Amino acid sequence: MPEKLSDPSGRGKVDGFRVIFPQMQHPYTEEEIQAVVSVMRNAEGQTQGKYLEKFEADFAAFVGAKYAFGVNNCTNALKLAAIFCHIHPGDEVIIPAYTYCASAIPFGDLGAKIVWADINKDTWTIDPDDFERKITEKTKAVVAVHLLGIPCDMKRIVAIARRHGVKVVEDCAQALDCRIDGQHVGTFGDFGCFSFHAAKTMTTLGEGGMFVCQDDEIAHQVPGIRHNGLCAFQGPRDRFWKPAMSNVDEFLEDRWPQNFCLGEAQCALGSEQLKSVIANNETLIAQDLKIREWLKDVPEISFPAIVEGGRYVVHQYIMHYDGSKSGKTRDDLLDLMTAKYGVRCIVQYYPLYRYPLFRKKGFGAFDCPVLENWWDDSFSFPWWCGIDDESMRIMCESLIEAVKELRG
Ligand SMILES: *Cc1c(COP(=O)(O)O)cnc(C)c1O
Repeated sequence: MPEKLSDPSGRGKVDGFRVIFPQMQHPYTEEEIQAVVSVMRNAEGQTQGKYLEKFEADFAAFVGAKYAFGVNNCTNALKLAAIFCHIHPGDEVIIPAYTYCASAIPFGDLGAKIVWADINKDTWTIDPDDFERKITEKTKAVVAVHLLGIPCDMKRIVAIARRHGVKVVEDCAQALDCRIDGQHVGTFGDFGCFSFHAAKTMTTLGEGGMFVCQDDEIAHQVPGIRHNGLCAFQGPRDRFWKPAMSNVDEFLEDRWPQNFCLGEAQCALGSEQLKSVIANNETLIAQDLKIREWLKDVPEISFPAIVEGGRYVVHQYIMHYDGSKSGKTRDDLLDLMTAKYGVRCIVQYYPLYRYPLFRKKGFGAFDCPVLENWWDDSFSFPWWCGIDDESMRIMCESLIEAVKELRG
């Protein structure tokens, strides 16, 4: 058993572990470094300039959205979505209970009652039937999270939502480049939210995000809401200083504006990073297929189904362990993987209703039998963009041995 964990974050080298999770998931290319440096050297302003405009245009073209707006992180892209859904205290928002906490926090922050949806057992994303069952006359929005890089069933979700007048927010933080019949996630619903956090498919210096929408009227309102209500004065000016340089206007009666801006250096890097997203995802998909092949004769281990007609990406490497025949649990398996094989598997996100934050806020109640039955036996491999064959071999061989050993 490895001694004390000197690095509780799990990153970097930890004595006794054989698979090393790199500190830096995205070693920058020289072009990417130069893109940032050139913004630092030029005197055209460090925010709200031509790099933002270019990055937004590049991103909109990449995902096929009418409008894209750079923001400082995906949580705030989701906050913009919540603002444009006009969430008020008492409104209900349906959110899968299995996701990262940021899918829900912006809605809770605006006073929404969070209603937890169950997941589909095959795709591990929101179950459209359960979403429909949980709609009431107070339901304002649903958050479809393309978790792990697996696209939700957007055609059904959008059809159900439209029937009931419910807005559809897509949380694409883990799913840049995911597609359904060629169409990118984030463009099916009303709003799409992307993340460029350091752990995501691409990053804009550690933090960043994008908000996409198709609606002209909303797109007109986003820049003001994103930047403290600032906008240009209309009409001719006889003196350049009158009125003042910019107006502060209120775009939505029910909201104060925010400041969610993304800096120019981040945007310059974003345009560069976007160029390698497809290749990076394809590498990870190839690695995923190798692992599935490696573990195909281990009936205890199962994977999310590969969605037909879809392009999935492999943001995290989550599996399910069924040790019921030998009376063993996921924790037995991970203990053995750690102690005997030096492979540090992890467990991703509790169902959100189990976290103290959501319980304290009054969202501890749930009706999610699939998730409840499934989650406690799920686990994931250490996983990062550029994971090497040797690490995968160690993980797979160890898992095969550990599962065998637990059969007794
Ligand atoms: C990372 C993540 C977010 C939040 O993204 P930030 O850019 O860190 O704010 C939201 N939802 C999901 C599913 C995520 O994985």
